[in-house]
Amino acid sequence: MSVPFVDLKAQYLTIQNEIDSAIAKVVSETAFISGKYAKAFEDAFAAYLGVKHCIACGNGTDSLEILLQAMGIGAGDEVLVPANTWISTAEAVTTIGATPVFVDNHPETYTIDIAKIEEKITPRTKAIIPVHLYGLPAEMDEIMAIAKKYHLKVMEDCAQAHAATYKGRKVGTIGDCASFSFYPGKNLGAYGDAGGMVTNDDEIAHKARMIANHGQIAKNTHAIEGRNSRMDGIQGAVLSVKLPYLESWTEARRKHAKRYNELLTDLGIQLPFEPSYSRHVYHLYVVQVPNRDEIIAKLKAEGIDTGIHYPTALPFMEAYKRFNHQPDDFPVAYKQMSQLLSLPMYAELTDAMIEHVCKSLKQVLQRASVSV
Ligand SMILES: *Cc1c(COP(=O)(O)O)cnc(C)c1O
Repeated sequence: MSVPFVDLKAQYLTIQNEIDSAIAKVVSETAFISGKYAKAFEDAFAAYLGVKHCIACGNGTDSLEILLQAMGIGAGDEVLVPANTWISTAEAVTTIGATPVFVDNHPETYTIDIAKIEEKITPRTKAIIPVHLYGLPAEMDEIMAIAKKYHLKVMEDCAQAHAATYKGRKVGTIGDCASFSFYPGKNLGAYGDAGGMVTNDDEIAHKARMIANHGQIAKNTHAIEGRNSRMDGIQGAVLSVKLPYLESWTEARRKHAKRYNELLTDLGIQLPFEPSYSRHVYHLYVVQVPNRDEIIAKLKAEGIDTGIHYPTALPFMEAYKRFNHQPDDFPVAYKQMSQLLSLPMYAELTDAMIEHVCKSLKQVLQRASVSV
């Protein structure tokens, strides 16, 4: 049995007619960039989250950059970023001229370790970017309290956490502003690159909208220099079709995670952690295993694709060698980067697929423990 890591085609087939006609409509109306389809999605997504503003843009990385700029962050400033995340979170900080300062991850939640934030704050620190990694909300109450104490801005990176909740609140509505990616493989994915910025702050919203569209406040009236980061009409139309399904797709992911948990319990491997006050949306189902290379190869031989998120934590990447970080600086992220393993996860997985993955993983682990 073959179990791909993600299967975008399987999802497309469940909504094919709606998607095809939505795309055909955009093309027949030549509403290619921004325009009514991007606007309709902005309104729908803002209403879904219960936030005042949603500004559609080109992708999730742009969205992080533009929001940082809109908050007035730039050269000379420092921004706190978790050590284990996708590179965009840190890249955005560098792109706007500021410096990313890494904070180790918590060993069980994988999100930024709230006990290690304050020691990284300096007079130059201007913001924290909590990432709701793998779909689990970061510890937002504590993060907001620290931010308040030191007068820092908080921008949530929600790229992996559409529909996740923290103490009853949707992620993206807790910080000063939040960034979403609609990259095709995300829990709410477009059919190309797309991103979204959300906030309740009128000033951040106004600036972000200007920056994303060449600094224009009206056609040919440029209040500032901005850039080009707009959402394609086709992406807006696809996302508007998909948004109403997000809840049922999220429930399916959660059901699959529960099944994985049941079948993988008692194997001595670390399973995902979900505090009772959070709703984890399992963008990724991540476990920690010994002999990872051997396990990946054996699963591959059984037709099962897996992923690693991420094989190198940011402080240890060549891209950040200028900081000269050592393993001891981020002991948790360093230790975990050789053990993290992401199992197949998407709404359309079947019970039989999950059972096949768990049975195969169990066999490798038991064989491995015998050979030790
Ligand atoms: C995917 C992702 C992004 C960037 O999104 P793009 O749309 O690919 O630019 C940013 N942060 C995190 C945590 C992500 O997973």
